Amino acid sequence: METNPCNKPINGESSIPSRVSRKTKPDDTIVNVNGVKVGGSEIVIIAGPCAVESHEQLFETARSVKAGGARILRGGAFKPRSSPYNFQGLGEEGLKLLGIIRVETGMPVVTEVMDTRQVELVASYADMIQIGSRNMQNYPLLKEAGLCRKPVLLKRGMMATIEEYLMAAEYILTQGNEQVILCERGIRTFETSTRNTLDLSAVPMLKRLTHLPVIVDPSHGTGLRWMVPAMAKAAVAVGADGLIMEVHYKPEEAICDGYQSLNLDEFGQLMSDLKKIAVAVGRNISLQKPATV
Ligand code: PEP
Ligand code: MN
Repeated sequence: METNPCNKPINGESSIPSRVSRKTKPDDTIVNVNGVKVGGSEIVIIAGPCAVESHEQLFETARSVKAGGARILRGGAFKPRSSPYNFQGLGEEGLKLLGIIRVETGMPVVTEVMDTRQVELVASYADMIQIGSRNMQNYPLLKEAGLCRKPVLLKRGMMATIEEYLMAAEYILTQGNEQVILCERGIRTFETSTRNTLDLSAVPMLKRLTHLPVIVDPSHGTGLRWMVPAMAKAAVAVGADGLIMEVHYKPEEAICDGYQSLNLDEFGQLMSDLKKIAVAVGRNISLQKPATV
């Protein structure tokens, strides 16, 4: 009799689907983001602004995070905003700017896609497509991302259990795309002093249950610039394979999420601190400049 692979309890911890399961594939999956390998011994830092706002903002920030040791550039062109009256992103104009800076710096680019109709467009500019927290259970979008042959950064839904999160990743894998990176970005709890409650216990749990790489977003996870360095260091200490952080050349002038964005000096300082933590846990953060994409 055929059994449903999604309903088998694993050590009583959770019911997890099969393709993402470490039981099915014991070895770590390494996701190759146009030459940058995530999930190996190197801790990969993804940094950049919340949103692409202008040529100057993106280019100044990108050059600086590259000099600081970031390996992948982030920046939203299509932004999921709580209010429809807020800046929604530059759209394709933002993608074009990302396309130019990607070639100039040699840094692969990750940017969010919110709509099935835009997966092809976004994937034509990006080295990795991001599915945001609000879309973690948008099943048509997950399937479409699974069909596109680019790595996918899948953020944890703010109300999602670990099991629901792994089920969402399974949707992408079922379409034949195994290049998925998971990202803990904080969950909604009763606590209001931080923007979200950054669930760092999700990192060892996910590493135990799945072979997929796991990174942490301390920017959305805390919503507080001053707290980002502490939680970034903690994330590396608990075994994260990388971090995604918001950095802005002038956070006080940012259109989006400036209050949680590091400035360029803060990012540089944090990178040197992170290197020490990485070494302490047997990992490394490469200073190697990426080759031209
Ligand atoms: C983002 O990383 O730009 C973002 C909107 O994050 P999240 O989906 O985690 O809220
Ligand atoms: Mn943001």
